[in-house]
Amino acid sequence: MRWTKRRFNPNSLRVEQVPLTRKELMWALSVRLFWLVVIGGGSVWLFDQVFQSPADRARDREIAFLEDQLEDMRRHVAQMDAALENLERRDDAVYRTILGVPPVPEHIRQAGVGGADRFSDVRGHLHSEEVADLKMRIAELQRALVTQSKSLDEVAEMAREYEDRLESIPAIQPVRNEDLHRMAGGWGYRIHPIYKVRKFHFGMDFSAPEGTEIFATGDGEVVKVKRLYNGYGRHVVIRHGFGYETLYAHMSSTDVKVGDRVHRGQVIGRVGSSGTSTSSHLHYEVHKDGVKVNPAHYFFNDLTPEEYEAMLEASEAETQSLD
Ligand SMILES: [Zn+2]
Repeated sequence: MRWTKRRFNPNSLRVEQVPLTRKELMWALSVRLFWLVVIGGGSVWLFDQVFQSPADRARDREIAFLEDQLEDMRRHVAQMDAALENLERRDDAVYRTILGVPPVPEHIRQAGVGGADRFSDVRGHLHSEEVADLKMRIAELQRALVTQSKSLDEVAEMAREYEDRLESIPAIQPVRNEDLHRMAGGWGYRIHPIYKVRKFHFGMDFSAPEGTEIFATGDGEVVKVKRLYNGYGRHVVIRHGFGYETLYAHMSSTDVKVGDRVHRGQVIGRVGSSGTSTSSHLHYEVHKDGVKVNPAHYFFNDLTPEEYEAMLEASEAETQSLD
């Protein structure tokens, strides 16, 4: 093809084909090139917009799949979070309350896991926000699990100790109810039977026939078996641990020796009237951390609430102890 243009020749009065000048030629080429680029490029762009390559489609499917998985994991984390919260509530409200220990402080449970900076390695991506959020929640969950696990270890340990304590603390009457003549002299001010003066009576007197069985009121170790001609007379002291000791006085005989391990309800001796005593009875004391306390508060195990009330009333009504 020749690059020409048509021109009217006024001399010959005819239209003639004349070659283009070099400048005109350059211009014509530029215009064609321009349209070629515009139309060609536009077509490629349009094609790309309308149709996807198989690789693109595969990648999109993959992203959708990962987003699904992310959502799924987020749901699982939320479920674990709820389960853990339930456990924490139960730990504080039930276990720790029953065992009489303070709940895990909130600031320990709520301790942070470090700011968002910790997850800066996942920044700069399309899903950075979701992934960082999930990572943060998992880290929180891990920390809370460790705290809760420690707390439950502690509770288990306390429960074990509590069981020991339940078996050790004096919790029954040292003499059977049916063996009692009467409940004489309880805790408080009483007229002393021999000195005839008002004295504080630091124990409880159980009036019973000589030879009546006396029981250890809790598990423990015999730390004293002694025979005196006044005061407590023949008496036994049992150390129960957890600060508790019990003393059994005025016995006629003893069935244990120092160092013996005894169990609650085991017979340790017999009622008598040895030492400073006016009649056959058991003088019983409970010591907590070295201080004498009212034994009446330690009979909860084998008395019904009504019996307990009656026992308290009887022990408080008497004005004279048997010492
Ligand atoms: Zn007494």
